Amino acid sequence: MAYSYDDQNIFAKILRGEIPNNTVYESDHALAFRDIEPQAPTHVLVIPKGPYISFDHFAAEASDAEIVGYVRAISEVCKAEGVTLDAGEGFRMIANAGAHGVQEVPHLHVHILGGRPMGRMVA
Ligand code: IMP
Repeated sequence: MAYSYDDQNIFAKILRGEIPNNTVYESDHALAFRDIEPQAPTHVLVIPKGPYISFDHFAAEASDAEIVGYVRAISEVCKAEGVTLDAGEGFRMIANAGAHGVQEVPHLHVHILGGRPMGRMVA
């Protein structure tokens, strides 16, 4: 089954500038903004600018430049938020995918959570 991207999802609208957001980082390939319902002192969402639903879609169809750009953006956000292991106490990185992953917005996003101990993740 082919991937089918819905360009009316809320993050697509944020990328087009149709909905405001609290941007913390932007590059050619990625945008990062604060989650509207933060679950931790640091809760930033990092999204690729291309039309990818999920990590598996991105990994299958994105160019090498998009992949490197996205990973670098995640790294820059972690550094800017002060959660990297050389400067802070660490972080949790989550990317939900599809129904079983309980993904709410069908545009790939990595959650960066930090600023407190996260607790053990079992499911
Ligand atoms: P998911 O369950 O991994 O898809 O998470 C979607 C996340 O997007 C949730 O943590 C929401 O709080 C967040 N969210 C939804 N709409 C917005 C928005 O307009 N701005 C920022 N975050 C949003």
